[in-house]
Amino acid sequence: MINHHPSTELLLSYVAGNLAPGFSLAVASHASMCSDCRKRIAHGESIGGALLYSMEPAEVSEDALEEVLARIETGCLPGDNGDHITLHGKSEAPDPLRSFVPGAFDDLPWRTLAPGMKHIRLPVDEDSAAKVRLIRLAPGVATPAHSHRGHELTLVLKGSFSDELGRFGPGDIQETDASVSHQPMADTGEDCVCLIVTDAPLKFDNLVGKILQPIFGY
Ligand SMILES: [Zn+2]
Repeated sequence: MINHHPSTELLLSYVAGNLAPGFSLAVASHASMCSDCRKRIAHGESIGGALLYSMEPAEVSEDALEEVLARIETGCLPGDNGDHITLHGKSEAPDPLRSFVPGAFDDLPWRTLAPGMKHIRLPVDEDSAAKVRLIRLAPGVATPAHSHRGHELTLVLKGSFSDELGRFGPGDIQETDASVSHQPMADTGEDCVCLIVTDAPLKFDNLVGKILQPIFGY
């Protein structure tokens, strides 16, 4: 059961098309797992549609949409040379992430960040300061304590984690900003896989975190 949803502000920005591609991908992925938010989005779109109908058309370059779709659908994962992904049938990820996760999470070319902590950078919005990553924590492993310079969106895809803000399971989304300092720890039982989107480097609070900063926080 999903307990943590995007804020109204975030959903409205999504509906209005104002989110950066990585954040939009996280909200779309949550919505594909959450019927409540699909309803909220449909409701927002109907209101937005009515508003747009009464406005002057804005200039958008003809290939803007195709460009975004092409980037999202490229799905070429940043593996080492020779890496390839073995398909095990159905994707374990929600539909909007399927091009990045064609099969099981186990089959992705994970890179180790620290013991029990792996990640993959997804090729989304690479020209911006935003970072779109999958993070995988082994049971009971915690990320370094950190706060943020910008916004961070975390969507749980598998397993669960707990931190100062509560417990987050599959489909739950966490929004944090500069006012939040936390230390997510994977719950015991199974690996926790999350999609994490940040629009500014993380700020680590302790020495381990500061050492990890260059690889973890970019
Ligand atoms: Zn929701």
